[in-house]
This record gives sequence, C-alpha cells and structure tokens, in this order.
Amino acid sequence: MELNRTALVTGASRGIGRAAAELLAQNGFNVVVHYYQNKAAAEETVQSLKARGYAAMAVGADLRSAAEVVEMVKAGEAYFGKIDVLVNNAGIAAQKLFTDMTVQEWDEMFAIHVRGNFLCSRAVLPAMIARGHGKIVNISSIWGTVGASCEVHYSAAKAAVIGITKALAKEVAPSGVCVNCVAPGVIETDMISHLDEKTKMELAADTPLGRLGTPADVAQAILFFASAQSDFITGQVLTADGGFAG
Ligand code: NAP
Repeated sequence: MELNRTALVTGASRGIGRAAAELLAQNGFNVVVHYYQNKAAAEETVQSLKARGYAAMAVGADLRSAAEVVEMVKAGEAYFGKIDVLVNNAGIAAQKLFTDMTVQEWDEMFAIHVRGNFLCSRAVLPAMIARGHGKIVNISSIWGTVGASCEVHYSAAKAAVIGITKALAKEVAPSGVCVNCVAPGVIETDMISHLDEKTKMELAADTPLGRLGTPADVAQAILFFASAQSDFITGQVLTADGGFAG
C-alpha cells in the first residue's frame, strides 16, 4: 500500500489509463484522472472511485499544449499537495501507408506521444527533484521496439518514448526520480476497435499466452513501476504482450 502518494494518469478517461487509475487507487494512491475530450467518462471514473472511499479528481487538458499541461499539473498539486507518480499514457493510433502519410499526420502522432510526454514530465519534475523522490511511467508499445507495417509514425513515436525513458532515467536518477516504460502488446481497448473479430482471433492465436491483453494486465505493470517495489529499477522497458513480440 502506498500511503499519501498521488499519481497523475494521462488518458485515464478510457482504456489502459482508466484501468491504471483504478488499480493505483486500490493500492493506496490518490489519483488525478486526466481526460481530453471525454470529461463525462473521467468524472464517472472519479465518482466510482470516490464511492469506494478512494481519493480522486478529474482534470482536462490537451497534452499538445504546454500551457494546458502546466495548468493540469497545478490543479493536481493544488488538490492533493504533490504529484509523486506521473503515468504518461494518453495516445492515439492510426494506420496508413508510409507513402500516403501527410506531414500533418506525422506531426500529430509526435505531438501527442512525444511532445505531450516531454511537456508532462517537464511539468512534474521540478517538484519531484526538489523532494528527492518521484516516478515517471511512460507507455510505449511493442511497435516501438519491433516496428509495425502501416504504422511507421506510431512506431517511431513509441520508439522515441523509449529513448526518452532511457535518457531521462540517467539524468534524474541522482535526484531520486525513477523513469521506466511499459510496452504493451495488443490490448482490448477502443484503440483496436478498427480490427474485426477474425483479425483479433488471429492475433490471439499468434500470442503464446493465447489471448489478447486487457487494460488490467497492463495496469499491473504500471503499478509495479509506480510503487516502492521498483525503487532500484530505472530506465527499463517492461513488455506486457503475452509473449507476442518474442
Ligand atoms: P484509448 O482507449 O484509445 O484511450 C486513449 C486516451 O488518450 C484517452 O483517454 C484520450 O482522452 C487520450 N487522448 C487522446 N488524444 C489526446 C490528446 N491530444 N491530449 C490528451 N489526451 C488525449 O487508448 P489505450 O488503448 O488505452 O492506449 C493507452 C496507451 O497505451 C497509448 O499511449 C497507446 O499508444 C498505448 N498502447 C495501446 C495498445 C493497445 O493495443 N490498446 C498497445 C500498445 C500501446 P479522451 O478519451 O478524454 O479524449
């Protein structure tokens, strides 16, 4: 149990982020539930947590905006006093042939995954460094390590998230801040809603553990990096993919 610790989870209105917010709350964390467009879903998550006696608040922000990110972090710090854990989870996915990709589509992918990651971590780090303690958990993807056809921009952005993790971990380790990364495989969320049932069954069949992942599966890996159990671990990438990527 983590007592008097606060975790800010980006993209917690749905999917993996919501499952992470739930699990972190169940393990004693106060939770800042970030949303972008789904305010109602984020508030519903907060109400459901509060009804069970957990401490939570919702805050909206477009993570591509430096000003909105600063306001989001200020709101979390004002409500709970401090932010001990940042989970950089919010993201988008898109499928497109590389040769058809527009500059705007390329930039959009990097804006949310790379610029957003930078802005959020930059906003929470000064206070973490001053306290000599903090955890940043970045969400990459197996495609960031092995690459996906028709998802070059997504794969490149997710590889950048791994690069950020490894470099920032070294930079802030002397200040007591750990930076780690979870690389999920195929996880049943809105992000894979474009896949038909046949494709999902084939992907499950190609997964050594015989099924697709759930948001709760990934949340367990996030909890590990958020908690004191990983205090001597930094700069690492933990794959949660049922053995899919090998
Ligand atoms: P999801 O269900 O589609 O949810 C995406 C979340 O990101 C939502 O909470 C959304 O907020 C937020 N978001 C989107 N654009 C945003 C923006 N411009 N600013 C702020 N927030 C924004 O996705 P998921 O499957 O849970 O994915 C979570 C993370 O895991 C992502 O980084 C994704 O790349 C990664 N991942 C997913 C899979 C998978 O198979 N699902 C596999 C590997 C990695 P609103 O709903 O409030 O708009």
